[in-house]
Amino acid sequence: MKITAARSFLLVVPVGREIADSMQSVTTVELVGLVIDTDAGVSGTGYTVTVGHGGRVIRSVLDTLFIDDLIGKDPNQVREIWQQLYFGKSHWIGRAGATTMAQSAVDIALWDILAKAANKPLWQLLGGARSSDIPIYNTNAGWLNFSVDQLCAEAEELLAEGYTALKMKVGRDSVAEDVARVGAVRKAVGDRAMLMVDANQRWDPMQAAEGARRLEEFDLGWLEEPLHPDDVPAHRALKQRTSLPIALGEHVYTVHAFRDFITSGAVDVVQVDVCRVGGITPWLEVASLAHAQGLRVCPHAGDLMQVHQHLVRAIPNSWLLEVIPLWRVGPFQQQIQLERGRCIAPMAPGASTDFTAAAFERFSVS
Ligand code: MG
Repeated sequence: MKITAARSFLLVVPVGREIADSMQSVTTVELVGLVIDTDAGVSGTGYTVTVGHGGRVIRSVLDTLFIDDLIGKDPNQVREIWQQLYFGKSHWIGRAGATTMAQSAVDIALWDILAKAANKPLWQLLGGARSSDIPIYNTNAGWLNFSVDQLCAEAEELLAEGYTALKMKVGRDSVAEDVARVGAVRKAVGDRAMLMVDANQRWDPMQAAEGARRLEEFDLGWLEEPLHPDDVPAHRALKQRTSLPIALGEHVYTVHAFRDFITSGAVDVVQVDVCRVGGITPWLEVASLAHAQGLRVCPHAGDLMQVHQHLVRAIPNSWLLEVIPLWRVGPFQQQIQLERGRCIAPMAPGASTDFTAAAFERFSVS
């Protein structure tokens, strides 16, 4: 099998309402990626996602650094292609951020081709480890721009829909305000739901220590991204001071950086994102590192759940799948299937990454 052509795309898709965390406010997402054709008549789609900025930079990496070098390659050599791209034209300017996100799109498209060629859903091509429905948690009721009343009302709605795990944002102007908001939601949901909190890197070590100490009473599933995402020692120090499990990984771009968090005891829940870490190839390596250290993997929903629904089924140490239904904007041919707080196994061949023709027509930008 040989790659005969590849074309990039950039879609700008509204998320339906304004949502905020401590880092940003979001009204649109960009889906940027490529479709790769082969001489076997099989095409694959890969993409990465931004919160509204930077899509053109990533597309430029695809168009000017990657696509020419893909032509003539055999998708069966996906791990070799990964190394060639990584140590190729992008190496001098990249190794994290936009170049790695572009590489994610390529790698996902290649695995999509391999799964379609094998006539299997990606999770079975990778050697299925979990065939049962995967428990999910919902982040969509906990945005930082919501009032306390809205937080509690939307949490109640999700419980009625069958969700049993929710995540909310912290990182308002004072830790005291965060503690009051989390306390109100915990009181509203009682023991009917597992509750997690996410600071989106907003705190410095002193604030994180105070926040963790004061939030411990609310029986939280984890505290997410409390600190700067590159600061391994600060996370390790925080973990030694608090009983709250520490989750992170959505802004960690390399297997090596994950290794440092994992082997130094600086993380409990590994949130590796297939659209940020360079694709499925390195995602699996990170998941194996976590497994060897006895850690659970709960991928960040940065892929809009389409690829991660496969990957959590391909490893033994996955736990919960993050879901943000607001971002189920409908551009995919095989939309993720959710039922009463669980994700149903996708069975169509491929990685569930193909977009509809209508999505390309409606959301494409040049
Ligand atoms: Mg997060």
